[in-house]
Formats: sequence, C-alpha cells, structure tokens
Amino acid sequence: MPDFKISILGGTGGPFEHSTQCFMIRPVRKEDSLDSICIDGGVGLGSIARMLQYNPENRTVDDFYGDETAAGQPVEKYMDEKLLPNIVKGFPKTLHNRLNGNIAQKAMNIYQHIGEYYITHPHMDHIAGMIINSPVIFEPAVLSKKQILGLPFTIESMEKYIFNDIIWPQLSSNLLGRLELKSLLDQEVHISETIPEWDIVPFKVYHGSKVADKNIDVSSSVYIITNNITNNTILICGDLETDHTGPNERKLLDQVWTYLAENVKLENLKAIIIECSNSASVDERRLFGHLSSNKLLDELQTLRNKYNNPQGLSNLHVIISHVKMVYEDKDPRLIILEELRTLGNKRSGLENITFSVAVQGYTFII
Ligand SMILES: [Zn+2]
Ligand SMILES: [Zn+2]
Repeated sequence: MPDFKISILGGTGGPFEHSTQCFMIRPVRKEDSLDSICIDGGVGLGSIARMLQYNPENRTVDDFYGDETAAGQPVEKYMDEKLLPNIVKGFPKTLHNRLNGNIAQKAMNIYQHIGEYYITHPHMDHIAGMIINSPVIFEPAVLSKKQILGLPFTIESMEKYIFNDIIWPQLSSNLLGRLELKSLLDQEVHISETIPEWDIVPFKVYHGSKVADKNIDVSSSVYIITNNITNNTILICGDLETDHTGPNERKLLDQVWTYLAENVKLENLKAIIIECSNSASVDERRLFGHLSSNKLLDELQTLRNKYNNPQGLSNLHVIISHVKMVYEDKDPRLIILEELRTLGNKRSGLENITFSVAVQGYTFII
C-alpha cells in the first residue's frame, strides 16, 4: 500500500520562475485530512490554484519546447511505465471532495493546512513562493500557524536576510506568533508535528562554492522521510553535487547512502527524488554545484554497492527534479531522462531502476 502523496507544485531549477522547486506531501492513510508538509517553497499558492483548475483527464505536461500551439506533451514521455498507474494530474479526487468555494478559496484552504516547510537551502528558487504566500497565514477566514525548518545555515539566513523587515516583513516575530523558524540538527531524527507518523532526518550536503570566493563551500540538504509505522521511506533532495575529494574533505552525500543502506530495507525505499540539473554533455566545470546524468548514475552506483543486493536497485523509483530549462531545441528534461535510461542500462545493478521526471502539476502516490 502506498504511503506518500507527493504533489509537484514546482520541479525545475529555473530560469522560468513559475515552476521552481516545491513538493507538497500528504499521508495516504489520512484521506480525511488536508494536513501536509512541503519540502522547499520555490512556488506555492499560484501553483496550487492552477492544479485545482486542471482537467484530470488531460494528462499532458506543460512545456515551452514544442510547437507554440501544442497543448503540451503527453505525460507518458516523462514517466516510467511502472510509475504511470501511480500518478494523477492535479490533486487526487479525495482532496477535491474536501474543498468548498472558488479556486482562490480552495487554494487558501490547502495552504492553511501546510503545517511545515522543510527547506533544503536558502536559494531563491527554493523559498520565493513560500515568502510571497506568507501573509495568507493572517487571512482571517483561513488563519494558520506554520513552521519553517531547516539546518542552521538555512534558518539563520532566513532570519538575517529574508524575514528582517527589509527584504520582507518580519512575520516570524514572536509578537505575531504564527510563523516559527526552527533549526534542525544534522542527521538527527525530527518527528513532524503536522504528521506525527513521519520521522524526518536532514543531511547536509555540498552545493558548490561561492562565486566571490571559490574556497568557501555552499551547503544544501537532503531529507529522509520515514513512516514510523510502516517503515516506508522516501528521500527528497535539494540541490547538490558529488562529495569533494582531498585530505580535509568530508564525505557528506556518502553518509546519506550509508544511512539508507543501514537503516532502510530496499523494499521500503519507495522513491528517491533527486536533482539532475544538467545533461551529461555539460562540461564538469560548468555544473556549479549540481549533478549531471552521469554524476547521478555514479551516486546510484554507490548506493547499489552499499546495499549489495544481488538484484541491484531493482524497481527503485528515481524521480529527477531541478532540471535547468536551458536554451535547447528539445525539452531538457527529456534529454536527461533519455541519458539516464541509456547510460543506466549499461551499469551493473542499475538496469532495473525506473527513471521519471518530477513534472509540475502531478501528484505521485507512492
Ligand atoms: Zn535550486
Ligand atoms: Zn541552489
């Protein structure tokens, strides 16, 4: 039985600002509740409203790379066929049934029940929607309280540079008491207050270096979410790059793979949502703190070796996000998907991974 309903409010790495990263997750077992958490907040209410307007029968993906008049590409192009039965366009019917009013009211109702945002890192494409949406917390008919959580480097930056009464009002002030910024501890289990059956573990990872000083690392996070009743687990990643090499470097991403192999049975690992910003054709020096398809396969190979399962990572769902929508003739998401499938097929133990794209506007039930 599936555990997680993951709605892709945004799943690219820009530069189009309407689809940057935000995943809204609800538990399958609580059909009678609207409660959710979000990983990142690149977009928000606008995306929720558009998803409420979708015709669920119209299973296309918005793309700007086809014929100008085309109504989008069929979703089958972006999904492994094994995952196709587990996706719905927009939100599942059970959620629609619980909402009343017009689209704006329904969207704000869904927003009201987002209890927690887990932010991977404070780059704009991961927080912009969440910030612009935040005054709705005080909307009288749909008052709510929210927590913004993350590792200290994220939360300290949000306090200092965003909710500072300059860039944005200090809505996190204790005087208002509705928006709480809360630091998490690296690699420590945090129990979600919104969905208490979820254990959430953050891991710090590398995400390139500063433009102005190449010697200073930029950090990001990944989150491992486990249902503490069923043990089913998903891994959701922010932007990241492979571990650095050198005498003083720490193995950060490697610790994530070790943790999974030691704590989560392969059959409980329901999906990995991970960035793959670039095609394998991009020069390694131009990855700017991100993965490319060949680098992602290297990481999956490491995970495969740690599990050391005779069947390899058989039937693991890998869903890629944060593709950079670059100047190309063809949708870059499809280029990268094809590379992952072709190159992955040649790697021992990775042949039976399913690769799909976290396309905006769909809900994955896994
Ligand atoms: Zn990003
Ligand atoms: Zn980033």
